[in-house]
Formats: sequence, structure tokens, C-alpha cells
Amino acid sequence: ADAIRVRVAVRLRPKNNEDFIEDGDFTSCVELQPEAKKLRLKKNNWSSELYKFDEVFTEGASQRRIYEAVAKPVVESVLEGYNGTVMAYGQTGTGKTYTMGRLGKDDPSERGIMVRALEDILASISSLTDYVAISYLQLYLESLQDLLAPDKVNIPIVEDPKSGDVSLPGAAVVELRDIDHFNELLQFGEANRYAANTKLNTESSRSHAILVVHVQRSVKVKDENEGASVVSSMDDLLAASNHVPIVLKSKLLIVDLAGSERIDKSGSVEGPMLEEAKFINLSLTSLGKCINALAENSPYIPTRDSKLTRLLRDSFGGTARTSLIITIGPSARYYSETSSTILFGQRAMKIVNTVKLKEEVDY
Ligand code: ADP
Repeated sequence: ADAIRVRVAVRLRPKNNEDFIEDGDFTSCVELQPEAKKLRLKKNNWSSELYKFDEVFTEGASQRRIYEAVAKPVVESVLEGYNGTVMAYGQTGTGKTYTMGRLGKDDPSERGIMVRALEDILASISSLTDYVAISYLQLYLESLQDLLAPDKVNIPIVEDPKSGDVSLPGAAVVELRDIDHFNELLQFGEANRYAANTKLNTESSRSHAILVVHVQRSVKVKDENEGASVVSSMDDLLAASNHVPIVLKSKLLIVDLAGSERIDKSGSVEGPMLEEAKFINLSLTSLGKCINALAENSPYIPTRDSKLTRLLRDSFGGTARTSLIITIGPSARYYSETSSTILFGQRAMKIVNTVKLKEEVDY
């Protein structure tokens, strides 16, 4: 088991109309130094802070660059049998869904992390001996809904006390045929998300979207000292009599979080909305508390306080390799939201996970 730090990248969205204050003025509160991987956040003309990240992406950075720098190392490690997480955190409208979920049907260069990750995974595995399947869920008001089987609501989260593994026994697990199949499922899931949110009178920016990719690979290992090598067919596997055949089972989580802005600031919180605000804050607040506790090496991590933190138990402080993308807008209008996103990212950078191979000797 190796100690490995959570990696955090920041991505700046290009400015848009929303960023202008009423009289048409635009003031930026961020200055990037992508080479030095630093970001300066300006409170006003006299006061600013400089922050260092693992990666700093300007508004011109392509989807492909983001994927390669942030998600690809995690995908590769999932293919080697480790758990992995790629998560986006930021204020609504800063590009989380663009970064994670974009299908890129009209413009393939815009394909987001979900599609690119599955392309790489499907291209790397052998259809004879390996298995790739997905579950796709939405967490809204502490209720976990299945986006691939929309009649399933309140999916339970089950934790194996021994391994710490989290599973969702009620959720649909769909084996993937190819990338077109994945794109169809993603679109189907998005449509269900939209329909569920219309029915509940909510926006998708208020819910967390969670894609779980299950990967199973047959590999053979010669002895303890040698790393696992991947076999390409069942014959290979059986012929390898001097090797120990094992099955590696790993999971990739790709998470598009609800907007991190404080809902009570928007002024629209009354009646049933208040309930909603509290619940959304429950998951995100409790994520923030866990990140703080982990960053400070606290002996008590309040993982059990919300469904989101239970789902992400292996991602922060667990055995997964984790990359976090924090998304921000440029406008000084949203200085305080941007500042709180940056601080979240800075704390997450202090978290060290202990990656472990997820193997099962069940041959
Ligand atoms: P969020 O998921 O954080 O609420 P979205 O992904 O919906 O934000 O992005 C808000 C808007 O900004 C969308 O219209 C999206 O297409 C656009 N956008 C976000 N990031 C970028 C980017 N890097 N380049 C171009 N457009 C972007």
C-alpha cells in the first residue's frame, strides 16, 4: 500500500454575460500563473492571496488537456486494479458539468471526462476475460436515485466493515458493450435526471451526479515480487500454470457535485425550499467537514453524517487515487464563492490516501 496525496486542479471558465455587473462593468478577481501552477485571488486593489495547486488551467485549456492531466492517471490506476475518483467541485455555472459530463455530440473536441474515461477503459480491456459496467445515480435531498432505472429511489448504501468498501446493492449495474452504448446510457441518465428534477421542481445544479464504473480484470502474477501482468485471453490465463491467476476488481467514481454556493444567499429560500437548502447543505457541509478533519489529521472523521460522505469514504482518506477539479469563474462579483471554492481545494490537497490493490483470488 502506497501513500498518495489527493491531487487538485483548478479550472477557470471563460467569462460570460453573467460575470458583468449591471452597468456592463467586468472586473476579474483571479490572475493565473499556469506555468508556476499558481493562482492569485484579488479581494480588492490592495489585498490578494497567492495559492499553489497541482495544476492551473486557464480559460483556453482544452477538454483533452484537462482529461489527460487530471483524469487519465486515475483511469490508468483503475485499470491496474486500484479504486479511483475524479470529482468536480465549484459554484453553479462555473463548468462542472461541462468538464465532467459533456457528450460532445456536435463537437467531439468538447467531450468531457466521463466519455473520455470510458473510451480509454473500453480500449484497454479484453472483452474475453474482462468486464466493465456502470451505475449512474443522483443524490438529491439525501435520497439516492437510480438514473438508469428511474423507478428505483432511495437506494441503500452498504459498507463492508472489514474492507471499508462501499456498495449500492439496489442500483442497476449495466455491462457496457462499447462506447456508443455508454453514450446512450449517459444520455438516458441525463434525461431521467431532467425528468426527475422537473417533477420535483428542482434544478440539476442542486443534486450530485455520481457515475460508478466497475472494472474487473483477469491477470496472472508470477510471484509476490513481480507485479501483475494482464492476460489477453482465457487460454492465456489457463496456460499460465506457473502463475497465480487473480481477478482485480476496481471502481472508478466520477462525481459532478451540486453547486457549492450557499443557497441561503440567493434570497429564494422559503417554505419547502428551506428544507431543500438544509439537505443540500447537509451533504456539502458534511463533505467540507470531512475534508477539514482529514486535512488537519483529526482522529475523528465524520464520514457517516451524510450519504455523500459515505459514498466518498474511499475517495478521501481511503484507498482510492483521487483527483479533484475545482471550477471557478473570473468575475469579482463572485469573489466570496470563488474564495471558498479555492479554500476547499487547498484543504483537499493536504489529504493523503493509502492506495491498495483490490484483488480477489476466486479462480
Ligand atoms: P456547472 O455544472 O458548474 O453549473 P456548466 O458546466 O453548466 O456549469 O457551465 C455553465 C455554462 O458555461 C455552460 O453554458 C457551459 O457550456 C459553459 N462553460 C463552462 N465551462 C466552459 C469552458 N471551459 N469553455 C466554454 N464554455 C464553458
